[in-house]
Order: sequence, then C-alpha cells, then structure tokens
Amino acid sequence: MNQGHKILVVGSANTDMVIRVEKFPAPGETLSGHNFLLNAGGKGANQAVAAARLGGKVAMMARLGNDLFGKQTIENFKKEGLNVEGVVLDNKLPSGVAQIVVDKSGENTIVVAGGSNLALNTRQVNKYYSLVQEAEVILLQLEVPMETVLYVAQKATGLGKKVILNPAPANKLSDKLYASIYAITPNETETKFLTGINITGEKSAQHAADFFHDKGVKVVIITLGAAGAFLSTPDYSGTIATSEVEAVDTTAAGDTFNGALATALSNKMDWEEAVAFANKAASLSVTKHGAQASVPFLKDLNV
Ligand code: ADP
Repeated sequence: MNQGHKILVVGSANTDMVIRVEKFPAPGETLSGHNFLLNAGGKGANQAVAAARLGGKVAMMARLGNDLFGKQTIENFKKEGLNVEGVVLDNKLPSGVAQIVVDKSGENTIVVAGGSNLALNTRQVNKYYSLVQEAEVILLQLEVPMETVLYVAQKATGLGKKVILNPAPANKLSDKLYASIYAITPNETETKFLTGINITGEKSAQHAADFFHDKGVKVVIITLGAAGAFLSTPDYSGTIATSEVEAVDTTAAGDTFNGALATALSNKMDWEEAVAFANKAASLSVTKHGAQASVPFLKDLNV
C-alpha cells in the first residue's frame, strides 16, 4: 500500500501556539498580547513536509494525541501528501505543543510539552515495520525517545537503508547510535555540544567531522547558517555555499535543509548535489516567516 514511499521520517509533531507581546511578562504578571497564531510544527513534521513539498515520496511515523490538535495535524499531513499509515492517535496523552511568546525585538521564549511524542515507542515501530522496510532513506531527529531513535537506526541500517540523523535538539548520543547511522547533520551549536569543537573555519569543521567519522558515521554535514554547509565524506571535504538571500526568519531552516537532503538522496543525487539542493531550499525558507509556512515547494527552487 505504501509502496514507493522512499523516505520515512520517524519523529515529532507539535502544534505551536504563538503570541506576540510588547515585553515578556514578569512572574505572576498577566499581559495582553497581540494576535494569536496556531502553527503546525515539530522537527519531524517540519522535515517530512519539507521533503514532500520538494518532491519526495514521504511516509511519516509519529504519535499524536487523540484531541483537536492531533486530528488537525493528521489532516495537515494528508494535505501535504504524506503517507499517514504509521501515525497513531494516543488515547492517553495530549498532542505535543509548544507555547511561544515573541517580544517586539523578535526574541522568543518557548515551552515545549512533548506529550504523545514521548510515547512513540519501539512497539509502534514494530507495528508499522513495513514502512521501515520499504523506505530507502530514513530521517530521524531527537524529539522522540532516544530508545526509539536507536531502535529505528539499528533496524534500518541492518536492512541496508541510509539513515540520516539530525541531532536536534542537542542531546548526548551513544556510541551504538553513532555506529548505526550513515549521515549526521548537526548545526554549529549541536556540533560544539557533541564534539566540544568551535567551528571557526574549514580546519575546525574537518576536525569536528573526524570526531563523527571516528565513531563510524560515513557522511558528516555541518550546517553553517548563511555560510551554507560543510560536507565530509570518504571522497569529498569542503564547504558548499548557499545562495545569498535577505533573511527575515530562520525558523525551520535546519528542518527544510534536512527534508530537502532526504528528497535529494532518494532521487539519487550524490552528496555534493544533495547538499547544494538542501542549501537552496533552506535559503529560500529563511526569506519567509514561520516554520512550515516558510518551507518552499519544488517549483520555487527553479531547478
Ligand atoms: P539551524 O536552522 O538548525 O540552526 P543553520 O542555521 O545552520 O541551522 O541553517 C541551516 C541551513 O539553512 C544552512 O545550511 C543554509 O543552507 C540555510 N540558511 C540558514 N541561514 C541562512 C541565511 N541567512 N542565508 C542563506 N541560507 C541560510
């Protein structure tokens, strides 16, 4: 039934609730905010939507609450063309939400309640295992339990799939997990967290990449914001530049990059081409506000 879904994203989906304020409230203070916005978010969902909008055939494995947000999220997935066979509505836990307050300088405070995302367990993976078997590229992040991430990575790698881990939000990774992923895509902050190395140029980027290679990761892509991304594979090492754009909001730049990367690989691009494609998509996403709202479609890329 899900034949041809070449990309599987196993990850989070959240509903972002955003209120703009003049200034942040002090403890105990009640403030009137400006307009309220309800946005689809969560790194897994953002990356799956990006991969699909850019032409990928994508299945999503996620766990939502059996509530208003969960139902809305699954409808959104369908609208985006995702295969939702592996999306489960949990009867006990609420959907994941992020409460975001943005002040007039654009600074934000965010509180995330993972809810049902934290119950995406190995049993669910086993139940929808055919999705793992049928995919070619598996894309993972760290907003669902680490045990599940490791399980999917080990199983998928055992089946000869290409597993990409976007190690966000930053969290400690076990040697077992490193040994069962093909590629890793940290940004500079996550790279510093995982390797202890500050990225100041290509030499330090290669040094950080070698940390991951030594753990068994074949392809390392360190995203560098406006500077593009550093790629290190057994055959290539260097920075791949991105387009110069007027950035207005970098929310979901990394998610767009990762979704695009998965689509490019599933379309058999090599790693250099895939990173260039991901840069192009991500650079477009920073020219628009919002998370999923800023994710471009293939036609926007002019490729
Ligand atoms: P994250 O969003 O996870 O912090 P980065 O800031 O490294 O990750 O951005 C991810 C990708 O988004 C970059 O590799 C690049 O392709 C693109 N990008 C981010 N910021 C800009 C920018 N100001 N101009 C052009 N491209 C950008």
